[in-house]
Parts: sequence; structure tokens; C-alpha cells
Amino acid sequence: VNTGSKPDISREKSKELYEKAKTYFPGGVNSPVRAFKSVYGTPLFIQKGDGCFVWDADGNQFIDFCGSWGPLILGHNPPKVREKVIETMQNGMSFGAPTALENELAELIIKNNKHVEKIRFTSSGTEAVMSAIRLARGYTKRDKILKFEGCYHGHSDSLLVKAGSGLVTFGETSSLGVPKSFAEETIVIPLNDTEALTQAFAQFKDQLAAVIIEGIPANNGLLIQDPAYIEFLQKICKDNGTLLIFDEVITGFRLGFEGAAGYYNAKPDIVTYGKILGGGLPVGMYGASAEIMGHISPDGGVYQAGTLSGNPVAMSAGIAQLTELLKSGFYKELNAKATEFAEGIQRFATARSYKFKVFHVGSIFWFAFTDKDKIQCAEDIDPASMEKFKVMHRELLNRGIYLGPSGYEVGFVSAAHTKIELEKAKRAILEALDIVFRK
Ligand code: PLP
Repeated sequence: VNTGSKPDISREKSKELYEKAKTYFPGGVNSPVRAFKSVYGTPLFIQKGDGCFVWDADGNQFIDFCGSWGPLILGHNPPKVREKVIETMQNGMSFGAPTALENELAELIIKNNKHVEKIRFTSSGTEAVMSAIRLARGYTKRDKILKFEGCYHGHSDSLLVKAGSGLVTFGETSSLGVPKSFAEETIVIPLNDTEALTQAFAQFKDQLAAVIIEGIPANNGLLIQDPAYIEFLQKICKDNGTLLIFDEVITGFRLGFEGAAGYYNAKPDIVTYGKILGGGLPVGMYGASAEIMGHISPDGGVYQAGTLSGNPVAMSAGIAQLTELLKSGFYKELNAKATEFAEGIQRFATARSYKFKVFHVGSIFWFAFTDKDKIQCAEDIDPASMEKFKVMHRELLNRGIYLGPSGYEVGFVSAAHTKIELEKAKRAILEALDIVFRK
């Protein structure tokens, strides 16, 4: 299979755009991980996406597994979503008043997801999670929250404490600008560690408003938790009157329509969604029982608002996308395709005794340069293995495969990836692995 390294793709236009962008934006980007700091070369400026493909400013074509970091479960620019968005836009972009479209999207969600009775739309995942935390604090009248090392929940102050995503990529553990007193309200413990959880509850029990966990942690590798651990977590929260928040910004509508809560058959008190919910437009949401949501303003005393919340154009994209996901067999087909892809790569790596694992669940996968059979907490990831990812990333770009530019990030298979393209991508990945392990 090994055909040796390929010449680097041309990036003249992307480089030119990047130089210009650096004069406008810190690091030339509007979200840090896009800056390619953890991989070779400069960021590719994307011009167009269609189905499972993207094209950059230099005209290079890639099979894309980043999928805008998760929202694009139907692939790029799916006609059904595009058409609905255009139809809505004919009537205007925003009113700051209720529209029937909000009801329509809410009904789709609430009717098909037993974890929410009432919801509130926001404009991003960060906002959804930040508001869910405020709700938990308002509801329980307690201040402290507990999160897990290796989980990322957006960039609100209380949650930028040893977070994953871009932060781990840059080797930082928290952000400047977060007051120490805020961080002190957030307790951080390792994942998959019942003892640490028990200890934290023993120490802080009456103060803990909420425990927040990613449905399946997928921002710092893919750290799939055992069902028994999730059960333990639910029980300890319930016993202490602490609310359990499932941050399903990645897993929501991805693992299935009911996300990780459905996958584990868990009963989180509050769930947060984003990404897929907006069909590629900026939408987030948090939801819970009617009783808990009754604490949100104007019904209750927990304030939260947004000029563009429930924006009609974004609602339309969500309606069109979720309607497709609800069609019979959607997840079965997508997940089977993704599993075959992941397992095919794994078989090859195992046959060659490469220290390489493809961890996967549903249509989410993560390439890990390890010989461990399970990685369930952040400390189990060897930072030195990221050097191998760097080589792989370059080799894959040179073979027309686009992965998110960090070895800590997961990849996504979409409904638009056909078996033919997945086979092509697999072959490119096997070639890249041969090169990585030859070095
Ligand atoms: N929560 C999780 C689990 C996420 O993965 C992300 C973003 O990647 C967020 C929250 C924040 O969402 P957003 O980037 O839309 O603000």
C-alpha cells in the first residue's frame, strides 16, 4: 500500500488569505483551533462544500471529516436544508418576536426526545451550557459545579477550567481572564473515576448545584465512558440533590435523536444541544422538565435572553435537518457505515502491529496513536503521540482528506459520505499510517 510521501498541496491563495486575516484577527482566525497550530502548514481557507466534499481557495478538493466540527450530519449544503432556509429568508431574517418556526422546531424535538419537556433556544452551544449552569444554580440555590478534566463545554468563565478542545491542544489548562474566584466554584475531577467522584461529593455535597459531563466526551479524544460509570454518576447526583447536566452539543442528534442520554438510557436533569440542531446555522438549546424550566425568565427568576435566539432562518435549517434525521433507518444506516469505516482501518493497523486505535461510537471516530484498548480519561492520552497525528494530518491533506487540525479532535462521518468515498478515504488513511509508522 505504501506509496511514500506525496508533495504538499498548493496553498498559495490560502496563504495569502491567511496573511491578510492575521492583520484582522488574533492568530488570523475567529476560533483558535482553526489556526493549524498543532499541525503542519497554514490553515486552508474553504470556499465551498457539497455533500462530503470541501474545496479550498486554491481549488484543492477534500473528503471532509470535520463537518464544521459536528453540525453537518447530512453533509455540506444539503438541498433540503438549503431550500428551507432560502424559503424562510424571502420573508426576512429576524424579528425579535416569536415566530411559528420556533414552535415547529420545538415540537419536533419535544415529541421525539423524552429528556425534555420544555426548551429554550440560544445562538450557540456555549450560551446553552452557560445558561444551563445558571439554571441549575438558580434551581438548587447552590453555587458550585463539578466538571471533568478532558470535557469541553464552551468558553464561559466557570467552564474554562482545565478544559479540553483548543486549550489542551495548546497545552494550557485554563484561560487568562477567568477570575480565580469564579474558577473556585468549579470542581474538576478525572473522568471514569468513581473514587474521585465520591470524594468530591463527600467534600462539597450541599454546595454542588450540578455535575456537567459531555454525553460522550469528544473534545479531548473520544473518551467513551462505561454505562456503569454513568449509572453511578446519576445515582450520586440524585442522592445529593445535585442536577446532572448532559452536555450533548456534540452527541445530541448525532448518536441518535436522543443523543447520549438515549444511548445510555440515562436520565439527565438538564440537557444542552447545539451543532446539529442548527443545521450549520448558529443555534443552541437547553431543556429539562417543565418544572425545572419553569425557573427560567419570564416564568421564573433565572434570567437568560438573546436578540437572535430562535432566529427564523436558523430555526428553518434545524427543522429541515432534524426532519431528515427522524426518517426511519437514518441512524442505523449512518452508524453502520461509520462502523465499517472505523473497523476496516483498525483491522489494517492491527494486522501491521501499528500502535494505533480507532475509537468510535455512532458516526464519531477518533484516531489515537496508542496500544491501549480503552482510553477513558484525559491522562491516558500521551501528548507525545500528537507528533504522529501531525504527520498523518499532512499526509491526509496531500491525499485529499480533511480532518480537524488537532489530534485531540474527533472526526465525523455524515450521511453524505458514500461507501465509495469512505473506501477512498480508508485507502488514503492506510497509506498515511504506513508513512507515519515508517518514520
Ligand atoms: N459543549 C460541547 C460538548 C462542545 O463540543 C462545544 C463546542 O465544540 C460547546 C459546548 C460550545 O459550543 P459552541 O462552540 O457552539 O459555543
